Amino acid sequence: MNKEDAKIRIAKLRASIDEYRHAYHVLDQATISDAALDSLKHELYKLEQEFPDLITPDSPTQRVGGTPLDKFEKVTHEKPMLSMEDVFTLSEFGEWFDRIHKLSNATTFFLMPKIDGLAVSIVYVDGLLSSAATRGDGKIGEDVTTNVRTIESVPLRLGVGKGGTVEVRGEIYIATDDFKKLNDAQAAKDEPLFANPRNAAAGSVRQLDPKVTASRHLSFVAWDLVTDLGQTTQAEEWEILRNLGFKPTPDSIVVSTVEEIQAHWKSLQMKRDGLGFWVDGMVVRVNDNAAYDGLGVVGKTPRGLVAWKFPAEEVTSVVRDIQWFVGRTGAITPVAVLEPTQLGGTTVQHASLHNFDEIQRLDVRVGDTVVLYKAGDIIPKVKGVVVGLRANGAKEANVPKECPVCGSPVERKEGEVAIVCSNRQCSAQNQEAVLHAARAFAIDGIGPATIATLMDAGIIQLPPDLFKLIPDDFVGLEGFGEVSANKLVDEIQARKEIPLAKFIVALGIRNVGEETARDLAKRFRTIDALMAATLDDLTAVPQVGAIVAQSVVDFFADEHHRDIVAAYVANGIQIVVPQLTTHNQPLTNRSFVLTGGLDTMSREEAKEKIRALGGDLSESVSKKTAYVIVGTDPGSKFEKAKSLGVPILSENEFIAMLASL
Ligand SMILES: [Zn+2]
Repeated sequence: MNKEDAKIRIAKLRASIDEYRHAYHVLDQATISDAALDSLKHELYKLEQEFPDLITPDSPTQRVGGTPLDKFEKVTHEKPMLSMEDVFTLSEFGEWFDRIHKLSNATTFFLMPKIDGLAVSIVYVDGLLSSAATRGDGKIGEDVTTNVRTIESVPLRLGVGKGGTVEVRGEIYIATDDFKKLNDAQAAKDEPLFANPRNAAAGSVRQLDPKVTASRHLSFVAWDLVTDLGQTTQAEEWEILRNLGFKPTPDSIVVSTVEEIQAHWKSLQMKRDGLGFWVDGMVVRVNDNAAYDGLGVVGKTPRGLVAWKFPAEEVTSVVRDIQWFVGRTGAITPVAVLEPTQLGGTTVQHASLHNFDEIQRLDVRVGDTVVLYKAGDIIPKVKGVVVGLRANGAKEANVPKECPVCGSPVERKEGEVAIVCSNRQCSAQNQEAVLHAARAFAIDGIGPATIATLMDAGIIQLPPDLFKLIPDDFVGLEGFGEVSANKLVDEIQARKEIPLAKFIVALGIRNVGEETARDLAKRFRTIDALMAATLDDLTAVPQVGAIVAQSVVDFFADEHHRDIVAAYVANGIQIVVPQLTTHNQPLTNRSFVLTGGLDTMSREEAKEKIRALGGDLSESVSKKTAYVIVGTDPGSKFEKAKSLGVPILSENEFIAMLASL
């Protein structure tokens, strides 16, 4: 290709790549596959290598062009980056609201989620990205231009021609999915995990090597157009930001009354886990810019702006005790028993400590004041100890030498952090194992209390014993009469037929969850074949890695577990072999998400239909989701699907789709 042709081709490639980038990262619309986009980028890169003088700073190839820095330069903000006043309750918010009405003629308010990330200011000169800086102390920040250039949702060139200087401020954040991936990767490399997405975003922006920043998949939303481009309200600002090529903070609306503000605050709080990014509250700003400016600044915070925080995701509490619990695999895990406290809207009194290494790492002692946090889990975690508040004689935890339930000696396997109870007959292990099996067999009528009662009375010992139960076994047991005993036994007997995948789940093999069980069932087709499988047989299954393969081999190498399988069969369990798929599977590689209730079938039935056609099911909506099926009273997944532009199917549309395949 000669230089003239190359010039034309390069210009076209840049325009297309930028269009796709904007659609994907700013508008959340996938218009081309990642692979195809990479291919375009590669072609552009090669052409630019051939004609290096055609490289321009706004070329998509120049996002990661910088060399590692020795240190960050200081930058003075033209206009200081102010902070926000926080309020925590409706009455505190009401005071702010009343004050605004007294001091100004503001009538409307602009609401937006407060995304938990790192605030930056980005300056464009004559339409080209010129510099980017962190907030720092508000007056002086750090120059992070090369790193901000790597963020795909930041335009390198403004979407509409603007001469002179344009300054845009916003938040760099890491999406919830990307945060999880980042921590998984950190764990795989044995590197420390990030405590939360904000730390991860801040740590990723403050990297001297821009390649590291680029690998972290950061995102950016704008929340302030500093330069006057004729905007008179915050809502107008959002429109201008969009035209300039930015993604303004989503889920933003204009309202008037305190009731509307409270309703939006509640609705954001309800769906915060499904937003795809971390939010710690809602920002309320006077919508009218003249009124906003007129209200002025008190100290470092503007009067016309307030952050109404969500209930804390981090609190402190006192450790009353450290107790040890025995799980179904025999693993003995420590749990901190706490002074009851409010966290994320619920009362918590336990926090997971994972294992003894974690206790030592945190140096948690009984009597310590600890910082707790929730990271998407039900049971909160201990983030750290407030050492300054440690009482004299705070007791260090000891690793139990014996199982706290059965008193047998504990074992610690070579290279593993978990300690386990060595006793096969340990009632705590078996109780958990029976409960786990009952759930896999979908026996709804039996819960932990009934299982404990039956085990204490010596009526059952192991999971297969459930299927030997007869109504007479319940005579004289607390909480059971003739009717309820008959009902439970009938239910158990009705569950004797079980698909192989569910049976594998029921066995409770370490590292084997529902999806893996399904893969194993598909490949091996009988429990005997699975029991006979070698490491090589297992790793040959797609999606089965070395750890899972080893877990399966170890499990069946144990006589005790083979006995359990035999006992199930002896007690009349029928393991249903999965149908061989002879018909074509038109939904292969398509991922579905279900939300809300369905009228004509149960969710399980819908899932089976999808799987039978080769489709996959997922719990969360992402850009990779093929369809979201929306029933009655859908949850936040519906909102997420809409915001990501994922195709949405009603129940009728789903049925029509199945019929058409
Ligand atoms: Zn034990």
